[in-house]
Amino acid sequence: MDGLRFDNHFKDLFDNTSDLVHFLTIEGNIELVNPSWLNTLSFELHEVVGRSIYDFIHPPCREEYKAIRKKAIDEKVKADLLTTFMTKHGKEVVGEGQIGCAYDIDQPLYTRCVFKNITAKKIAGKQIEESEKRLKTFFNSGPDAVIVINEQQLILEWNPKAEIIFGYSVDEVIGKPLSETIVPHQYREAHIKGMAHFLKTGEGPVLNKTLELTALHKKGHEFYINLSVSNVKLGNEWVFIAFLSDITERKKTEESLIRKEAELLKVKLLEERKDEFISIASHELKTPLTTIKAYTQLAISLSEGCSPVIVQYLQKVDQYAGKVNYLINELLDVSRIQAGKLSLTETDVQVESFLPEVLTSIQHITQTHTITLNKIEKANVKVDTIRLEQVITNLISNAAKYSPGQNKIIVNSVKKDNSIVISFTDFGIGIPKEKISKIFDRFYRVDEVAKEFSGLGIGLYVSAEIIKQHGGKIWAESVEGEGSTFYISLPIIN
Ligand code: ADP
Repeated sequence: MDGLRFDNHFKDLFDNTSDLVHFLTIEGNIELVNPSWLNTLSFELHEVVGRSIYDFIHPPCREEYKAIRKKAIDEKVKADLLTTFMTKHGKEVVGEGQIGCAYDIDQPLYTRCVFKNITAKKIAGKQIEESEKRLKTFFNSGPDAVIVINEQQLILEWNPKAEIIFGYSVDEVIGKPLSETIVPHQYREAHIKGMAHFLKTGEGPVLNKTLELTALHKKGHEFYINLSVSNVKLGNEWVFIAFLSDITERKKTEESLIRKEAELLKVKLLEERKDEFISIASHELKTPLTTIKAYTQLAISLSEGCSPVIVQYLQKVDQYAGKVNYLINELLDVSRIQAGKLSLTETDVQVESFLPEVLTSIQHITQTHTITLNKIEKANVKVDTIRLEQVITNLISNAAKYSPGQNKIIVNSVKKDNSIVISFTDFGIGIPKEKISKIFDRFYRVDEVAKEFSGLGIGLYVSAEIIKQHGGKIWAESVEGEGSTFYISLPIIN
């Protein structure tokens, strides 16, 4: 190597320095590199000596390196270098150092480059830069308002979401005490005391928890926020980072749910009181009515020889006492259903004989309509005959009541799958389509008919419960102004 003389110390330094060193001819070919250079770039000495330095520099950096080297040669200065080299395996190594040139009088002899491998530092720097970028993105566009304060409660950071939620721009609040901005007046003293207590004792009951409380908007109104505060020590001082979100909407929904629940509870309590009243009233009415009925019937039996008008009046009393008795029994049934005490006494019954018998026996409940049994198919069912008769009576009396001016009610009984379906058709006022699903509800009456026809709105409710307890179904089809058909289906037994 022309012009280069190693003495022992220089060689020792050259071999052991952690810096990377290479010597190049003026043309840019490698004359010598030190072990640190070889180790870092993963080459053997014989693989590099004589080759152009540009073979080892990352292509995008080559021109810049050339220019720096030219400067060192032409201007006789030590030129600063920051470039990227490539290892044998294609990995990038960032080098930072200087290039200098050796002369024989004015004749450049060779260039020397001494540099440090700063790849790790660069990567760490890049990672910090990226993490800062991520934090900034989160700070600027995250879902929460972020506010940072110091021990004096002075606002250090105030992100764009905080501007939106609280109405203050960052310039309006930076450096101001938090307690003079978004803390509602009634909490300010506690807030200041809480901070003093923390600084004295290290205890902060609100730290690292999620709290729901109210905050003050710039415009003066209070609203609900979700708050969580963390504390970190920076140097000797604590800073407090608060994440806040506006939960006004959620609170509104919660409040309306609570209101709705309270209303439902009120309705339920009222219903319960109503049920209780019905139960007590019907029991209280039942006893004197039974006595009235007994005495009326006794009077009728002893009325021989009395004026026919008196007999007629007694019969009327008996008839109306019967009607009242029917209503009281319905009310008692409602109470039983509510208490889950509507029990059945079932026996095996042949529909083809039971149905005509019942229809004949209840024909008297209507003087205007003739009940016609059109079709009857044979089927055995297991039923409580008294309860089933009650259902049929209710359907027939409704059919007659709600078809004024008509004169017939048609009954059919047809087998379908494993059930017998009995239908009751009238040609009366019908039921509006949108109300059909409600007529089996307790105390429901179609508004339009309530004034014209008397009733309590419980007959279908009780009937539906009875049929349900038999494992059957009840439903209705109707065309307003043309009439209705009510169906009951009961499971057939073999
Ligand atoms: P009520 O007849 O005492 O009002 P129900 O429970 O028997 O009570 O009937 C509930 C409601 O269903 C009635 O108020 C009436 O509006 C309607 N409804 C029942 N049966 C018929 C029918 N055959 N035709 C038209 N509407 C009916």
